[in-house]
This record gives sequence, C-alpha cells and structure tokens, in this order.
Amino acid sequence: MKRSLTIGRVAGIPIRLHWSFFLLALLVLASPNGTTGSVALADAIWLIVLFASVTLHELAHSLLARRLGLKVRDIVLLPIGGVSQIEAIDISPAIETKVAAVGPLASIVIGVVLLGAALATGASIWPPALYGGSWLTRVGWLNLLLAGFNLLPALPMDGGRVLRSLLARGHSKLRATQVASVVAFVLGAAMIGYGLKKDYFLVIIGVFVAIGAASEWNSARFQASLTGLTVGAYMHSDATTVPAGVAASEVAAWLAHFPGRALPVVDETGRYQGIVDGGNLAGHIPGLAVGQLADRQAPLLAPEMPLYPHAARAFEQSKRRQLAVVSGGRVVGVLYLQPVATALMQARQQTARLGWS
Ligand SMILES: [Zn+2]
Repeated sequence: MKRSLTIGRVAGIPIRLHWSFFLLALLVLASPNGTTGSVALADAIWLIVLFASVTLHELAHSLLARRLGLKVRDIVLLPIGGVSQIEAIDISPAIETKVAAVGPLASIVIGVVLLGAALATGASIWPPALYGGSWLTRVGWLNLLLAGFNLLPALPMDGGRVLRSLLARGHSKLRATQVASVVAFVLGAAMIGYGLKKDYFLVIIGVFVAIGAASEWNSARFQASLTGLTVGAYMHSDATTVPAGVAASEVAAWLAHFPGRALPVVDETGRYQGIVDGGNLAGHIPGLAVGQLADRQAPLLAPEMPLYPHAARAFEQSKRRQLAVVSGGRVVGVLYLQPVATALMQARQQTARLGWS
C-alpha cells in the first residue's frame, strides 16, 4: 500500500502506518476537549493503545497466515482496524475462514482478559465505557468493539471475508465474491448515510468498505477471466537452445543480432541448465563457455502452469523478458513476457469495463 510509513517489524513482518492514521491522530488531538495539556496527553495515550490493539489484531491474522503457508507482505495500520497484506490468490475457502476469523478472536481474547483483570482489581466494567474510568476496562471494551466491528459482514473486513469464504464452499469464488460485495456495498452505503447524520468517522469507514468491496469484486473478476489460460498455450514451442560448452563470445555475437532475446542453455544430454541473454554475457571473460555464465536461478515454467498468477509472478520476480518452459528436464518452449502482459492487460480492461468502480 502506497503512502505509508514503516514503524517497526514484529517476527520479520513490517508494520506500516497508513497516512489516514495520521488523519485520525489529528481528529483526536484537535477534538474540542483537547484544550489542556493533560487531556491532550490522555488522548495521545488512548491513540497509542488503540494502535497497539489494532496491531495485535493484525499480527494474529499475519502470523496464522504465515503458519498456513501464505506469504505476508506487511501490516498497514488504518483507523478502521488495519490491513494484513497477505498474498492470497489461490487461497482456499477453509484457509480464508481461519485467517479472517483469528483477528477478531484475538481481540476478543485480549478484551476478555483485560475486563477480567479490571474485575479482579475491583474496577467496574458495566456499563461499557471507552472514555473515563479504569484503563483496563476502557482498553478491554476497545478490543471487544474492534472485534465486533471487524466482524460486520462487509468485505474487505473480516466478517465479509468469513461470509465470502463460507459462500465459496457452495459456489465459485467469483459468485461468492459477488454476493459478499453486494452485502458490503449495502452496509458501506448505510454507514455513509448514517455517518453523514451522526459521525463523520463512520463516513470514512463506509467509503473504505465500498472501495474495498469494489476492488475485491474486480480482482475476483480479473482472476476468473484468466482461468484456464496456461503457459503452454502462450509459449513459443520451437525454442532454440544452446549447448553449455559453446564459447560465450560466439553466443554473445549471435545474441547481438537479436536484442532482448534469451537462449535456454542445455547440457550434452539436452537437459536444461539455465538461461542466458546479452546482459549475462556483457563484459564476459574470453574463453569462458556459455554454461558458466548462464543464469541458473531464473524461475522455470511448465506448460500446464497457469499464466496467472504463476507465470506473471515468475516474470515479475526474475525481471526477465523470456523464461524457459521445461517438461521432464527438457526445454519444450520459451515464454515471452509480451503476450503474457497483453493477456493480463486485456483481462484488466475487460473487468474494468464491466466492474462497478
Ligand atoms: Zn481483522
């Protein structure tokens, strides 16, 4: 997520503050009761407690996601409750339910423990209060409120993800996302309508929900439109290869005639060794064989792999414009970046045209 500030790392996961969190800080500090120094300090402490509660909630999502084998990019803290940016393109409904539910569950556990501690110290916990009274009570209720709010069935909030993943058990992900997005849109509109009369903070959250739901819906449509497209259908199948023992200077001279082209390198039995382009050979030492300069780390594709996300991600990670397609150790083709980029762009244009954003 752009425009955010990294404030630390927990278990290797970067924690970032989104710009809108600063807006919240301004709103709290500029509120009418923030006139005296001690009130301003209490407000600042309250904000830090809120921020810590949100972070713990997000860490629960992220740590479970990582344990279940998903890649966690970072945690971005927003006033609404933060976002754990988890790569979740092929996520199964069962895993989505678990990862979505664990955040509110963590907030509920923290809330109950704090309220229990408040009771143990003789503080009153009823009626619920966020302002004034014992800090244990206030922070306890804050965490329960956080859990309750995130459980609203409004995609992309946790409750909406749970709803979508439950729907996806009986329907396609696209259909499940469609239904969950409509529910989220209605809830988001209700928040905006109610917020305009009562509380502008709710308007911000309503807008966040509506934008998030539209983006989830577009992303599901985008993925659905690419379903069934494989590397095999897009690759160049008469791939030229070069034996590893050929002099690098010879290959460099050949590649100079085909700017941007890469060649898979094979051993004497024809098995794939690596890939080489002009860049790998630039400034090569005379006398070296091409096999010594080939990139052996470049990701390998297989004909049956989906174009998205697998091939697209391989291009993105390797920064190469061509990748070898290998089956049973043999090179069966070369996939160029260009047709993949075109297919993704067409899918994006189609979904953007028909989307409601
Ligand atoms: Zn959450």
